[in-house]
Amino acid sequence: MRLSFCWLNRHTPTRDRARWDGTHFISTCRNCGKPIRRVTSKVWRKEWMPEGSDNAAWL
Ligand SMILES: [Zn+2]
Repeated sequence: MRLSFCWLNRHTPTRDRARWDGTHFISTCRNCGKPIRRVTSKVWRKEWMPEGSDNAAWL
């Protein structure tokens, strides 16, 4: 059984592969395999760029 919240932009990182890119932790989603970036300690989202983005809903 696979429960995935990827469609809600809630991804599950592969812990071993998380790394620091100078701004955020980035990893790969276990479920959809896409590159994700850590927003808060429990929230990972698909690759996004804080700079130049006017989508500030996550703040
Ligand atoms: Zn995912």
